[in-house]
Amino acid sequence: MSLLFPVTTRFAPTPSGALHVGHVLAAFTARRLADAHGGRCLLRIEDIDSRARDVRWVNQLMEDLDWLGIRFDGEVMVQSRRFGVYATALRELHDKELLYPCFCSRSMRRHEEESISRAPHTPPSKRPHRPDRCRSLPADEVEQRLAAGEAHSWRIDMQRVQDSIGCPTWEDLCAGVQRCIPSDCEDVILSRKDTPTSYHLAVVVDDAQQGVNLVTRGRDLMESTPIHRALQAILGLPTPVYAHHPLLRDSNGVRLAKRDQATSIASFREAGYSPAQILSSIRAAVSNGGIWKGN
Ligand SMILES: [Zn+2]
Repeated sequence: MSLLFPVTTRFAPTPSGALHVGHVLAAFTARRLADAHGGRCLLRIEDIDSRARDVRWVNQLMEDLDWLGIRFDGEVMVQSRRFGVYATALRELHDKELLYPCFCSRSMRRHEEESISRAPHTPPSKRPHRPDRCRSLPADEVEQRLAAGEAHSWRIDMQRVQDSIGCPTWEDLCAGVQRCIPSDCEDVILSRKDTPTSYHLAVVVDDAQQGVNLVTRGRDLMESTPIHRALQAILGLPTPVYAHHPLLRDSNGVRLAKRDQATSIASFREAGYSPAQILSSIRAAVSNGGIWKGN
């Protein structure tokens, strides 16, 4: 496995709720891998969505991490201060003619997504990829609707991406060499009126900017990695190695969520638990296939 030295990892939470044990697993994994390789672990606040910009959660996040004794290196990066940087990357994709406007409303998209997800016995990763209907709109109609000021978001045309970069590879620390087939990926939205960048674009630009060469994150983001690899190739950014850790689940196999106050660090603190007890319960859950039994 070709880890670059010095290793730089990061923990990148979205502060839209209380820090919970799932976050701590992610932070702890990033810190541990950095330490094991004599590297650095950075902190990035992913708050591009205005709903994740509640200063109360950011303050509590910093306080909880400090209490847990998980330290980070260098300056904290805050995405909501970097919209100009993402706009530059978006312009580059625009100039390469890889974006197209999508005029579908959110409710129309939701309806389509629901009808796809109703397909019986089909897990999300196996759903047939359907390009957005706006990809094939005639150029004069697009021009007209843009000129009329119709609301739209911008999608990336993954078929054109493939025509440009082919099928690049990346290394996953657990799963080995992986190949990105852009045309198998969704034409994801990279910007919309109320959010001028998307998670996908911001994460790729920021990992490069921060010199992150080992991305550690939960397995729920594994399906996004081909999109991120394609964006790196198009934007000429370096490719990190990836390590996707298991997610914590309750005894019914349901993923622990932010809204579940019982697993928030604040509630453990209030109940008198120590950081060592929380970290030891997380370690026990990981060695038990991710099943969280609590303290
Ligand atoms: Zn559309």
